[in-house]
Amino acid sequence: MIKMKKVDLHTHTYFSDGLLSPKQLISLANNKKISAISITDHDTIDGLLEGKKEAIKKNIEFINGVEFFSIETEILGYLFDEKNSALINFLEKQILQKEKYAIKKIEQLNNLNIDIEIEEVYEKIKPGRVVTTTHIAQILLEKGYVKEIQEAFKKYINKEKVILKDPPENAKKIIKLIKNAGGVSVLPHPWYLKDFQKENLEYFLIKLEKYGLNGIETTGYIPNENILFEGKNLIKRIKEISRELKLVETGGSDFHSEKIHPHNILGKYNISYTKLNELKKKIK
Ligand SMILES: [Zn+2]
Repeated sequence: MIKMKKVDLHTHTYFSDGLLSPKQLISLANNKKISAISITDHDTIDGLLEGKKEAIKKNIEFINGVEFFSIETEILGYLFDEKNSALINFLEKQILQKEKYAIKKIEQLNNLNIDIEIEEVYEKIKPGRVVTTTHIAQILLEKGYVKEIQEAFKKYINKEKVILKDPPENAKKIIKLIKNAGGVSVLPHPWYLKDFQKENLEYFLIKLEKYGLNGIETTGYIPNENILFEGKNLIKRIKEISRELKLVETGGSDFHSEKIHPHNILGKYNISYTKLNELKKKIK
């Protein structure tokens, strides 16, 4: 019997908002019999070198990855040249912008009488450099303001918008940046898109495909597989449109550590090696 190779194209380390080092993550992936993996930290590629080194030792195929923040949605980039200077410079700007965002968010929380300081967040992100709202949520949890991470988002973090002087970059620019760095781009967890995007799902995906999007996640932890949107099964609809647009259906665990996102379990959400090959073929 041929054993199906397990591929996980969505994981996080402590270089963004995960808890494990790249080395620990690859080691865990090895225990879970994963044969190919991508580290897709938020707006940083700081963990790739360590991850790759460990993957070579464990005979796991390592795929360069990063999860970009954009104004419309997050975008995953894969298989790019990690030495591409435009990509590196862009990520440095993203990191600075995330810091500005966090400072404003902390101000908002202080106005709600929550005792939290940016210095505590800086301490929390170490050894990484990327400030994320998950770090803020962790601090709220530790200080007893909430009982779980998701509650911190619902009750406090997502309550009020943060408007920055320079708005975040758009998906079009990011998809182009990934392509120019020799990579491919994938839309992560479409089941978490905003309601107005789900309402115009086909239009939204056609637009991204026109920009050059290569794939879409259809495998992963989906809080409610039977979710209906405007009377139709959302997941089924996502798959239908993806097939029409010839987007490669990818996915992964979006593992951060079970302490952060308990449902996003490493080893549980995998794609086949065929899908990884399809993605590789999209490199132009
Ligand atoms: Zn992610």
